[in-house]
Amino acid sequence: MSQTASHPSIAAVTPVRVRVTRDLLDSMQNSARDAAPAEIGWMLFGSYVGEEARIDAMHALRNAANNPCEQFAADALEQMNAYLAGSRDSLHCIGNAHSHPRGTARMSRLDRCGGHVGSVLLIVAPNATDGVTSRAFWFERLQDSVVAPTPSHEIAVCIEDRT
Ligand SMILES: [Zn+2]
Repeated sequence: MSQTASHPSIAAVTPVRVRVTRDLLDSMQNSARDAAPAEIGWMLFGSYVGEEARIDAMHALRNAANNPCEQFAADALEQMNAYLAGSRDSLHCIGNAHSHPRGTARMSRLDRCGGHVGSVLLIVAPNATDGVTSRAFWFERLQDSVVAPTPSHEIAVCIEDRT
């Protein structure tokens, strides 16, 4: 069944992969290394095209968590300002990202509970102990029921080399 997307920031169908350029992902990995041992985060801008979530730009967000080495929490005002700045440049928010300086790029329990409905979460882990330095997850868009935590599943990360 297909639906028509009403807006580039709204997925018409469940995305099966996230597409990101190697330059952009490398830049996030480098920032994640620089910020270690604290986690760092980003707002992701791009669009949903068919079954793909395409990341075109990101905006770094400081970590406002009380325990920034254990979790990432964005400051609400900073997040809103990033959203508005993106909108001024015709950029559409499609999700968010944060780093795991230790361990793997898999979601933590807090990550599972903190996902935004109908959005992508990208986790970058430059020192991933399993060798997978980035993973993406999709948080389901729910029709009418409120379920906590929002159901989510891993989707592929497609790294694009720009020639
Ligand atoms: Zn996390």
